[in-house]
Amino acid sequence: AEEQLRQSQKMEAVGQLTGGIAHDFNNLLTGISGSLELLTVRLEQGRLSELGRYVASAQAAAQRAAALTHRLLAFSRRQTLDPKPTAVNELVVGMEEMIRRTVGPAIEIAVRCSAELWPAIVDPNQLENALLNLCLNARDAMPDGGCVTIETGNLALDDAAARERDLPPGDYVSLCVADTGTGMTPDVIARAFDPFFTTKPLGQGTGLGLSMIYGFVRQSGGQVRISSELGHGTSMRLFLPRHHGRLEGDGDSRAAAAPPRA
Ligand code: ADP
Repeated sequence: AEEQLRQSQKMEAVGQLTGGIAHDFNNLLTGISGSLELLTVRLEQGRLSELGRYVASAQAAAQRAAALTHRLLAFSRRQTLDPKPTAVNELVVGMEEMIRRTVGPAIEIAVRCSAELWPAIVDPNQLENALLNLCLNARDAMPDGGCVTIETGNLALDDAAARERDLPPGDYVSLCVADTGTGMTPDVIARAFDPFFTTKPLGQGTGLGLSMIYGFVRQSGGQVRISSELGHGTSMRLFLPRHHGRLEGDGDSRAAAAPPRA
């Protein structure tokens, strides 16, 4: 009976979700039809100078619809993960410039890399996507500018600390993206990982970013935590399982791979 209940709750969620997408699409299509209709009328009236406006708005709506399908496809394609030992500090530093350019000059980016950071075992491409996504969410939460702090750290979780985070006890690499933005209400925090949950205007948010990050991190054996204060900002913290052993390309392993000849 419990399984049945869970199943029917799942079906309900799927129903809500597809209903939501259908609704968004319908709105975009209505916009496109409306623009085309006006375009036809103006054309018949010979008011050619006004045509450009309607072409542009149809185009914009079509682009938003295309972006929505794009994200949907990326979401439905079961991402296959390719976890490997990953130097998270290097990954962050490697993306810093791109992130800076993407969020724009109104937002300051501070990177705090912990020294002696353990390697994590994670898919580096997915982690890059996640980091960029978190920074874009941070940007969206700071329309008047602000600061994003990206911080890494080692974290050893004992039984109690691990239980509190719903993780097995052990060593983790944490990657935190904190902003000085609007913050989130408890209700938004509770739903933030739900697929298609968004508070952003139509065409701007898909509500897939955090749910994809959550799926990827959980599949990797890690955890995602949100802490947020309304009016002050939000911290998104990823805990990634530690890789025990050396990283390829480390000084040590190179030395081991090519021992000095006697
Ligand atoms: P999207 O960004 O497309 O809305 P997400 O799944 O990434 O989808 O985020 C879901 C919602 O969580 C956002 O619409 C927003 O309300 C909230 N959110 C996410 N990150 C932040 C943040 N850094 N600050 C405030 N709210 C956030």
